[in-house]
Amino acid sequence: MPLMSDGARSPDLADRAGTGDLHALRGQLTGGLVLPDDPEWDDARRAWNLAVDQRPVAIALVESVEDVVKVVEFAGEHGLRIAPQGTGHGASALAVLDETILVKTSRLRGVEIDAGTARARVQAGALWEDVVVPAAEQGFVVLHGSSPDVGVVGYTLGGGMGWLARSRGLAANSVTAVELVTSEGKFVRLDSENEPDLFWAVRGGGGSFGVVTAIELELYPTPELYAGAMFWPLERAGEVLRAWREWTEAVPDEVTSVGRILHFPPLPDVPEPMRGQSFVIVEAVFVGSEADGNALVAQLRELEPAMDTFAAVAPTALQHLHMDPPHPVPGIGDGLFLERLPDEAIGAFVENAVPPLVSLEIRQLGGAMASSAQHHGAVGTLDAGYVMFAVGMAPNPEIAAAVHEAVDRVKAALGPWASARTYFNFAERPVGGARLYPLKTYTFQRLRKIRATHDPAEMFVSNHPIPPAVVIDTARIASAPLFADLPAAELEALAGAMGEAEVDAGTEVVTVDESGSTVYLIEAGEAEVIGADGPLSVTLGPGDTFGEIGLLLTAGKRTATVVARTPMKLLALSEPDFERIREQIPEFERSLRSLGLERSSR
Ligand SMILES: Cc1cc2nc3c(=O)[nH]c(=O)nc-3n(C[C@H](O)[C@H](O)[C@H](O)COP(=O)(O)OP(=O)(O)OC[C@H]3O[C@@H](n4cnc5c(N)ncnc54)[C@H](O)[C@@H]3O)c2cc1C
Repeated sequence: MPLMSDGARSPDLADRAGTGDLHALRGQLTGGLVLPDDPEWDDARRAWNLAVDQRPVAIALVESVEDVVKVVEFAGEHGLRIAPQGTGHGASALAVLDETILVKTSRLRGVEIDAGTARARVQAGALWEDVVVPAAEQGFVVLHGSSPDVGVVGYTLGGGMGWLARSRGLAANSVTAVELVTSEGKFVRLDSENEPDLFWAVRGGGGSFGVVTAIELELYPTPELYAGAMFWPLERAGEVLRAWREWTEAVPDEVTSVGRILHFPPLPDVPEPMRGQSFVIVEAVFVGSEADGNALVAQLRELEPAMDTFAAVAPTALQHLHMDPPHPVPGIGDGLFLERLPDEAIGAFVENAVPPLVSLEIRQLGGAMASSAQHHGAVGTLDAGYVMFAVGMAPNPEIAAAVHEAVDRVKAALGPWASARTYFNFAERPVGGARLYPLKTYTFQRLRKIRATHDPAEMFVSNHPIPPAVVIDTARIASAPLFADLPAAELEALAGAMGEAEVDAGTEVVTVDESGSTVYLIEAGEAEVIGADGPLSVTLGPGDTFGEIGLLLTAGKRTATVVARTPMKLLALSEPDFERIREQIPEFERSLRSLGLERSSR
């Protein structure tokens, strides 16, 4: 039952775009433009996640690149914003859509499979099932996730972790090109040669950079697949999940698996014998033969599951293994990364896995998700051990509040093992972009710079927005001793390349060695320096600098870690930006060398 009330209306448009102007836009589009007084308004504004109440100023049902260009140009002329949306699976973290045109891509579902190049070109509104089925017919698999009706584009822009993730990696890193309309209404094809920064940014940076109209993905020859699920009664949850965790520690990267607790709702579309029952379940996909798969899961079979569906399967079967809801539902959920999964963490998980939560899952990370490569996008690697996601159904506001609290309780209980970073696609609440990327990779700062270049006025509304970088005034860095004697041109180059970062108390900001090229300037807050042998009596404060370039302030230690003692505000010069401006900062490089801080090139 949707939470949204029928007949809901968006705010008056008079201040931004007159209704007459919107009617004129409607006349220019091949697809449709739905306005609040139209009878199809409530259908059009509905997201897959029925718990989300979307009230944009208009909904554009685009059918071509030209439609997208026209809507973007219109938004630019009228000071409106654009929220691209495929299905609305990821709609719960979206901002309020005041003064925003929701651009729905659901009519753009074309998919071309090119067996010769092993590539698929997928239009922006395609669902995974639109790709999985024709790819399988031509002998290929793709890196889809657990659900057949999740949108290919939204899933992939946020990383994309599916059943082949430990063997083949994240979907974002298998993208070979992206077709996109920029905030200036320009259509561009992004790949490693053309607009490489923007190409890098969209592959993990989400929908902050433009409206994607199509995406090109790698296809992989279909391997032998052995997959299934084992079910045990809920009472055995602790024992089974501990055994599964031990199993994950030994399995090869060809195995991607999930340990979960599922309280099946007593609904008619849930088949017997699951309807209304609760189970602890292990689901897994093994890329390999049935004989090897049987041998691999033998250890789990010794636990004598009540049901066991493991078998050699066709690639299309993987879409249904996780038993995701086959139609829109009102869901409230959230996730977190777990560094480790000791017995105590499993105990905390099981204790809190109670209704009104419906599904609580832990997926094993590692394998190809943990190894970096030059061609990867902004998502890079997922470096935790596991990722957790908990969700419940919220048919009305009272149950929604209870589910929200239950999700909070699981997250708090797992807090001691959680990492500071969280997974883009499993973050169903606004988190602030910085938490989606590891601080030490400077990914977030780089994304902010790219946003500032391509969408400085923040036209695009994403479920996890990347704020544009601010321009740093040279005076903000000139007061620090490290930068004080530099010529004005170098100060400008450095300030232009630096980004802002905010860090919570307790965060490890950087591990210092001599190999990298990173510089931090503290603007507010304090940090502590921890050497290999323990804390040094060195505290860094405003005006101090530290970095990966051999440490200025570690009492002579060449290897140390800098940890925020209080919340900190930093200016950061990341390694890629350092490399980019190197030729413009010869004095700065010379002064580093004079301090004995020569960088070794990587
Ligand atoms: C049942 C279910 C199962 C899931 N399973 C997995 C899983 O196995 N692995 C995993 O990694 N994630 C999974 N997810 C999370 C899912 O990947 C995210 O919710 C993702 O955002 C969904 O993409 P979408 O296009 O369907 O959703 P949407 O809500 O339509 O899009 C989400 C965001 O993507 C961006 N976006 C979408 N289309 C465009 C476009 N054309 N141009 C620019 N930006 C765009 C926008 O910022 C938008 O806010 C699952 C979610 C659900 C609800």
